[in-house]
Amino acid sequence: MPSAIPFNRPFLTGRELEYAREAFARGHTAGNGEFTKRCHAFFASRYGMTGCLLTQSCTDALEMAALLANLAPGDEVIMPAFTFVSTANAFVLRGAKIVFADSGHSHPNLEIEGLESLITSRTRAIVPVHYGGCACDMDRLQALARLHNLLLIEDAAQAIDGYHRDRPLGGIGHLAAFSFHETKNVICGEGGMLVVNDPQLHARAEIIWEKGTNRSAFFRGEVDKYGWVDVGSSFLPSEITAAFLYAQLENLTAIQQKRRTLWDSYLTGLKQLGDAGRLQLPLIPKYARHNAHIFFVVCASSKERAALIDWLRQSGIEAVFHYQALHASRYYHGRHDGRRLPEAERYSDCLLRLPLYFDLSSQDIARICETVTAFYKRQ
Ligand SMILES: *Cc1c(COP(=O)(O)O)cnc(C)c1O
Repeated sequence: MPSAIPFNRPFLTGRELEYAREAFARGHTAGNGEFTKRCHAFFASRYGMTGCLLTQSCTDALEMAALLANLAPGDEVIMPAFTFVSTANAFVLRGAKIVFADSGHSHPNLEIEGLESLITSRTRAIVPVHYGGCACDMDRLQALARLHNLLLIEDAAQAIDGYHRDRPLGGIGHLAAFSFHETKNVICGEGGMLVVNDPQLHARAEIIWEKGTNRSAFFRGEVDKYGWVDVGSSFLPSEITAAFLYAQLENLTAIQQKRRTLWDSYLTGLKQLGDAGRLQLPLIPKYARHNAHIFFVVCASSKERAALIDWLRQSGIEAVFHYQALHASRYYHGRHDGRRLPEAERYSDCLLRLPLYFDLSSQDIARICETVTAFYKRQ
């Protein structure tokens, strides 16, 4: 039997371990040191994101965004039901009511048609999730946010190096959150980043980041002593984490080139099945330049998906489903307003993710595509 192909495998691209040693040797292993600054500078120079704050996770960054949104209990936040729990939890922790919206028919991202009808006088924010690093319709979302005076907070966990037209994802909303979890395109074990694109929110973001103190301003010499000035928490990652991350960022171009090649081979390899209507393949809107974060297929039923997972496993290939639609989760279904969200439910039941990571080879992809094709031939 050929070797097993896991769904994901964490990878090294260059100097990760060397930089982690260097961070230690510098004698500064806590947060906000040299490597943290280099990571921030990378995003500023490559994407023009000047308000970056590294965090220990994207969950952290979303929690910071929710704090910055200054929500009062009962305030409403609109987001897709087909997303990770952290997107919702961050706002639930602040007492907000989550208003879940449906996904599109041709892509799991927020369906914009009908979204405006969910906005009430209590709505404070919309949180689009760029699923698979493929842009949501940011022009229309920005127009809605402006019209109704709402915060636009991008869950860009999966979206590094994805674009909406010529604008990098994570650089569009008032706030955005990235993840560097081991399953993402760029990794450091656990890690994330808040991007503050609205300059008015920057000073407070930095205070929340530094446990509610104005320590950052103190180290810049802007105040002569620092103290407790607002709420906050421990959101900074250590320099060891930042050092690892920086080495990955140095190789972002190579990582992205490899992933895009693999993603394109999947699309070519499965095109016949897609054209024949056996499988739904990802459809990338004209305004989106995706970052090859996920290659997914959508089966006709959950039963078919379970059989396909089994079939692949028997050939040593690990494929995995994704989110449970959150409006139907054990925690939230009693709080949800009862609207059916058929597309979110369909992706929850039928979407399957195929292996995609830096060390995967084109031969692996060919083998996976052949195995999927054999499954549909057999039926
Ligand atoms: C991975 C992910 C998160 C959480 O990221 P962590 O860094 O693990 O906290 C949040 N939202 C989405 C859409 C994700 O894919």
